[in-house]
Amino acid sequence: MDNGGPGELLRILRDGRPRTRADLAGITGLGRAAISSRLEPLLKLGLVVPVSDAASTGGRPSARLAFNPGARLVAAADVGATHATVALTDLSGRIVRETTERLEISCGPEAVLDWLAMTLQGHLETKKRPATDIIAVGIGLPGPVEHSTGKPTSPPIMPGWDGFDVPAYVQQTFDVPVLVDNDVNLMALGERATRWPNEDNMIFLKVATGIGSGVVSGGILQRGAAGVAGDVGHIAVSRAAGIQCRCGKTACLEAIAGAPAVAAQLRENGLEATTGNDVVSLVRSGDLAAIQAVRQAGRDIGEMLNMCVSFINPSLIVVGGSLAQSGEHLIAGIRETVYARSTPLATQHLNITQSATGPEAGVVGASILAVEYALAPQRVNDFATRLHPGGHQNTGDLQNVELIAQSSPTAP
Ligand SMILES: [Zn+2]
Repeated sequence: MDNGGPGELLRILRDGRPRTRADLAGITGLGRAAISSRLEPLLKLGLVVPVSDAASTGGRPSARLAFNPGARLVAAADVGATHATVALTDLSGRIVRETTERLEISCGPEAVLDWLAMTLQGHLETKKRPATDIIAVGIGLPGPVEHSTGKPTSPPIMPGWDGFDVPAYVQQTFDVPVLVDNDVNLMALGERATRWPNEDNMIFLKVATGIGSGVVSGGILQRGAAGVAGDVGHIAVSRAAGIQCRCGKTACLEAIAGAPAVAAQLRENGLEATTGNDVVSLVRSGDLAAIQAVRQAGRDIGEMLNMCVSFINPSLIVVGGSLAQSGEHLIAGIRETVYARSTPLATQHLNITQSATGPEAGVVGASILAVEYALAPQRVNDFATRLHPGGHQNTGDLQNVELIAQSSPTAP
């Protein structure tokens, strides 16, 4: 256990609170000299900077030090079925520059990832930052991803992507660690980091063309054995019995509560609707049939969530995705079923609410995934050792040294 390498000091300071060397010594139990030698590489890299103290005037240097999230950059992308967002963020996940464009995932990995790299180069030029400032890349894709390799696995709506080595392709342009995950998992990370940092047991549910969820249990995002944990759209619900789903089976939740299914029900009532946005427009205009259809979709989703609530006992369910933009009607339907059918003990502290992060949740989550990887204490220690061989205890293993070699920013 590392009690005070540079990486651990950075981890402490990443909460944003400035601290003195004495504060850091108190937290870690290390002596002042040890703290100073461990801070030195962080100060050199610009990851930690002295803060201007209002009280300290007359040219005396400030005694307090703080994390400097602008020292380096992370590239983050959220690639959906028909749109993609790519952003540069600082090391706190704050978006520095962002672009969203219409882009079909079915164009294939080369076309999509080339656009991504080209757009990032443009962002770097606009912000006058060198490509070497990027220390990691995070990418969300709309299908199952084997997180350890960054390869999509049998994604249903992504022809050409199955088994494609996304990190290797992106590294031809940006030679840094590339982390890839399912888009809904990243929305869960993004929503949690920006709105619910203290919620250790939450479900982020996306209701759009498909229905999926990201599950955080015990403070850890759950990916499961094959990266499909939280893939709840194909759980059978009673009202869908006998209805064909695009996955080839029948009775799936998605086949009656996904946006295309709700739109189809509205067309049967003579209304014009094909997408989730069409449904949302009708609901917002006060159309009674649309409101009822969305509320019923909420009840059907609630039937599925009822099982999840019993199974992992979350304290928070956040609902996002295009259909969630219809506001309280969808949430009301979900609450109706979940509160009626789950046990009182499981629901007494359960909050079910609409996503507040909106469309940016995915890209923020991708940034957080990349930052957490790049700034993990052991990797920062390995960084620091390269700057100052022998400057502190190095417990790095070879694999980490290799990883950090890929992500090592240019020393100033
Ligand atoms: Zn299905």
